[in-house]
Amino acid sequence: MVDLFRKHVESVDVGLTTFNKLESLQVNLGDLCNLSCAHCHHNASPQGTRIMGREVMDKIVVFLAYHPGLTLDITGGCPEMNPDFRYFIEATSGLAPRRIIRSNLVIALEPGMEWLPDFYKEQELVVMASLPCYELENVEKQRGRGVFNRSIGVLQQLNRKGYGSDLELHLVHNPGNGSVSGSRDMLELHYRKELLQHFGIIFSRLHCMNNTPIGRFRDNLERKGTYQRYIEHLAEKFNPSAIEQIMCRSLISVGWDGLLYNCDFNLAAGLPLGRKDGSLLKTEHIDEVITAGSPIQMAEHCFSCTAGQGSGCGGSLAKNVTQ
Ligand code: SF4
Ligand code: SF4
Repeated sequence: MVDLFRKHVESVDVGLTTFNKLESLQVNLGDLCNLSCAHCHHNASPQGTRIMGREVMDKIVVFLAYHPGLTLDITGGCPEMNPDFRYFIEATSGLAPRRIIRSNLVIALEPGMEWLPDFYKEQELVVMASLPCYELENVEKQRGRGVFNRSIGVLQQLNRKGYGSDLELHLVHNPGNGSVSGSRDMLELHYRKELLQHFGIIFSRLHCMNNTPIGRFRDNLERKGTYQRYIEHLAEKFNPSAIEQIMCRSLISVGWDGLLYNCDFNLAAGLPLGRKDGSLLKTEHIDEVITAGSPIQMAEHCFSCTAGQGSGCGGSLAKNVTQ
C-alpha cells in the first residue's frame, strides 16, 4: 500500500512527489493536551512529555528572520500548554505575516489560561479552532463529555473580541466515523446556520479534514478491526485533482525536538527527513530540504490527503470530488 500511494501520485504527474516552494512553516510545540480525543493522530494527552524548548524555538525565530513572508502554523498537542508558548509567540511577532494558532478552544477555560483570547487578539493570531461538528453528541463522542458547550462558550468570547469579523476565526471539521469528509460548502452552510441560530456564533471559514489513520485514531481502527477497510476506503476515494494542493509540496513541519518532517502527519507517524547518509535533519538544516525537487516521504496514511475533496491542515484541497 505504501508504494501504491506514490504510484497513484505518479500516475497523475511524477513531479508531484517532490517539494515545490516553501510557503508555510509548521511548528509542533509538543504532545501535551488537556483533552485525549479519539481521533487524535498525535496521541496527545495530559500525560504528554515531548515538549519543545527554547533552544529549538530560538532557531525557528532565526530561520523566520531570514525567510520573510512565510505563514507560521503553530500546532501540538495543545500548543498553548507549552510552558514557553507565550515566549515563542512574542519572539515571532513581526516575523511572519500570518501566524496561525491551532486551538482546541477549551484550553482557554482551564484555570490560569483565561488570558488566552486577549493574547490571541493582541498578537493578531489567526485562530484555527477544532469543532468536529455543530452537534453536541458528535463532538463529545470524539472529544469527551462537556467539550461541546465549553467550546461554544469560548467561540462566543472570541466573537466578542472581534474574531469571526475583524480577525480570522476558522473552524475545523472532522468526520466522526471512518468516513471521508462530505462537501465542504454544504457543511459550512450547516455550521453557519446552526451556530448562528442556536448560539449567535459567526466564523470566517470552515475547513474539512479527513481523519488520518495514525496515532490514537489508527489504534481505535485496529481495535475495531477496521483499519484496512478504512485505508481501502480512502484509496477508493482517491481524487487526482487534490494532488496538486497536498500541503507537503509547500510546507515543512518542525517537531518538538527540532527534527524536520514533510508534514505534521509524517511527524506523528515518525517519518523524519534525513540525508542520504542516514543523518537526520534539524531546524538549523531547513534550507537543505526546501529546494524544488526535494523528495517527499510518502506512506499509506497519505491517502487521507487525497480522498474525496482532499484534506490538509488548511482543509479541503480540491473543487472536484470523487464519489
Ligand atoms: S485532537 Fe487536538 S485537542 Fe484532541 S487530544 Fe489531539 S491535540 Fe488535543
Ligand atoms: S500525509 Fe503528509 S506527506 Fe503524505 S500526502 Fe499528506 S501532506 Fe503529503
